[in-house]
Amino acid sequence: MSDLLAAYEDEALGCTRCPLAATRTQVVFGSGDPNAQLMFVGEAPGFHEDQQGVPFVGQAGKLLETLLNGIGLSRTDVYIANVLKCRPPGNRDPQPEEIEACESHLFRQIELIRPTLVATLGNFATKLLSGKPTGITRVHGMPQQVTLGGNAVTLYPLYHPAAALYTRSMLSVLEEDFRRIPELLGLTTVVPEQAAFELEQALEEPEHPLEPAVQLGLF
Ligand code: URA
Repeated sequence: MSDLLAAYEDEALGCTRCPLAATRTQVVFGSGDPNAQLMFVGEAPGFHEDQQGVPFVGQAGKLLETLLNGIGLSRTDVYIANVLKCRPPGNRDPQPEEIEACESHLFRQIELIRPTLVATLGNFATKLLSGKPTGITRVHGMPQQVTLGGNAVTLYPLYHPAAALYTRSMLSVLEEDFRRIPELLGLTTVVPEQAAFELEQALEEPEHPLEPAVQLGLF
């Protein structure tokens, strides 16, 4: 399926379905293993993602990588994408009409990658892929069985790493929820000592981003 995904990406890179096409630097389609069993879905590209064309490369991305390493995985083992493929100006919340215009890109990605586990990061991805309005505070850490892209998938809602960077308690919950991923993938992992140490450090000293998380609409 990876050829089909690459062909679909080529097509999506020229997308003009919504007004974000006019303000983006480039489409941020997704990155990682096209045959991944585990896929993460975030909200939308931010400044750095828009510049580099790769999802989760800023501070939230660093935390995502640390959490992945903490369960014995790395970015290249998984596939990472977003609900929106283009950056909303000023990192504002995705608008309903933007999600509507963009969602078929995500559904096609899921159809082609055929992950068994889709971890949604934050409210926007969770609500879109669960098809329910229930917010992340109530459903985080609770696996749900859904059909996505014609396949049975376990949906696993998680707090958005950007939100966890602001709130210590949320970071511990995110880390705890993350620890169930290997079990949900049917894996037993041995976490390298260095990765365990880095995760511990991240939990002790969360970085301090610039805007309050509520403003980012992450809860
Ligand atoms: N970076 C992304 O690619 N997506 C998010 O949701 C946040 C940061």
